[in-house]
Amino acid sequence: MKIDVLRKSLFAVNDRAAEENRALLARHGVVALNIMGGAGCGKTTLLEKIIPAVRGELAVGVLEGDLATTKDADRIAALGVPVIQLLTEGGCHLTATLVQEGLRRLPLADLDLLLIENVGNPICPANFDLGEHFRLAVLSVSEGDDKPAKYPYLFKKADAVAITKVDVLAATDFNLDRAMADIRVLGPAKPIFAVSARRNDTGALTDWVRSRCGSVASKASSSR
Ligand code: MG
Ligand code: ZN
Repeated sequence: MKIDVLRKSLFAVNDRAAEENRALLARHGVVALNIMGGAGCGKTTLLEKIIPAVRGELAVGVLEGDLATTKDADRIAALGVPVIQLLTEGGCHLTATLVQEGLRRLPLADLDLLLIENVGNPICPANFDLGEHFRLAVLSVSEGDDKPAKYPYLFKKADAVAITKVDVLAATDFNLDRAMADIRVLGPAKPIFAVSARRNDTGALTDWVRSRCGSVASKASSSR
């Protein structure tokens, strides 16, 4: 007997919403960056460094992904930029559908740069297209230098990697060269930024964000 098989990609609904998000962002000339990494790797802290550094030139909005609480959105709101807290209520990643709800509540017409902080999780967020233009993977030295090899999808699909908390490097067994070598195996041309937010040493990463924003913006204006 022939068995009927019904195939529907888990990602089909997500991918459709991601395309809609991309179109909506393009219509408003907003460049979106999806920031991904494990819980406690320092994603929100990076936002607290990047936002004040670029806000003179770029109007920034933020979508904060978490399971519960508005703790991270509160930190971003304190910087005086528009922020929406997206709560997955137990879900381990942001979906394009949830991001779409957030986009509806942001003043997109006034924004240049949208920073999307994903749920703290180094695994499945990498599989979900949110309609973003660029991805930043974040890894803290306290997580261990074996993580790029063990969680390759996060790093493979990222446009750049930030290795955070390097001020405590000496207190860990983290081998920066080994981690960087493993990241380069997954993408030789990927910029890797070793940063310490505590030492305010995030300038090169901020420059990368700024340049990504400029690259999409100039593309959009030249195709007009
Ligand atoms: Mg956070
Ligand atoms: Zn998930």
